[in-house]
Amino acid sequence: MTAMMPEIHYQELKCCRLCPRGCGVNRFEGNRGYCRSMAGLRIGAVCLHKGEEPVLAGNHGMCNVFFEHCNLQCSYCQNYQISRNHQEQADVLTDLDEVLGRIAACLHAGAACVGFVSPSHMIPHMTHIIHILRERGLHAVTVMNTNAYDHPGKIRQLAEDIDVYLPDLKYHDAALGKKFSGADDYPAVAQAALKEMYRQKGAELRMGPDGIAHNGLIIRHLVLPGYVDNTLACLRFIARELSPKVHVSVMAQYTPIGAVAADENLGRTITAAEYERVLEELDRLGMDCGWIQSLSSAYHYQPDFTRSEPF
Ligand code: SF4
Repeated sequence: MTAMMPEIHYQELKCCRLCPRGCGVNRFEGNRGYCRSMAGLRIGAVCLHKGEEPVLAGNHGMCNVFFEHCNLQCSYCQNYQISRNHQEQADVLTDLDEVLGRIAACLHAGAACVGFVSPSHMIPHMTHIIHILRERGLHAVTVMNTNAYDHPGKIRQLAEDIDVYLPDLKYHDAALGKKFSGADDYPAVAQAALKEMYRQKGAELRMGPDGIAHNGLIIRHLVLPGYVDNTLACLRFIARELSPKVHVSVMAQYTPIGAVAADENLGRTITAAEYERVLEELDRLGMDCGWIQSLSSAYHYQPDFTRSEPF
């Protein structure tokens, strides 16, 4: 059976305001907006990934679907090989059946979750894939791994499709959003998106008998070197505006890429003293649900999307 791309799912791309960039371009006619993505499917990789959260990876890893390009363009992006909007991968996946086949292979290999990575500019494609998987009886836990630069209204529309939200809350400081991601409205947008995710899921992470999280919200945060105050403010937002019992995944894995190697702060990894301040704040806020990484993580999580197995 060949999977088709039904037109109805993609009407929004004719005047694209899928994400807060609000470009208003017709992606069917080749008018490129900020993400420089057209209407067609373009996926950088589908692969098993042990990931950062054991409740999603389980023993076999989760199936991650990495979309090409991104609506945020963080200067330090660890996935820069596929996320940069000014470049297009030669070996990108464009055939829906091939993508579905690779996802099915990961599920048959034991993955329980299918995670969609950086889907904010490709939401119709993500939901379409989810609907076909369900039609074919391939029931996986669906995970939206987003940079959180999403319209809350779009998140509201995903209530039936996404089992686990996995947003990465990046900035509380608007100046950092502008400096590193060209989005000074990032804190306001992301906080509204997270409030909608929390409205849908609450703080409880509902676990299946297989030890996999089947429904809920996990908020990631990547600690940036030199900007610990931003991290502390993000944690306080979660504890005070959502709940201290929300599951958080605090990542110490930041590693500089070439584009920021000369930056005074982003050109290094985080220090033990910086991380200690983060751990103390988690403790002070009573945030004891979730995961923290060891400082040595900086050397363990670097993907290489030029390989068939990036991780
Ligand atoms: S998805 Fe892309 S084209 Fe559409 S509004 Fe966002 S950045 Fe612009």
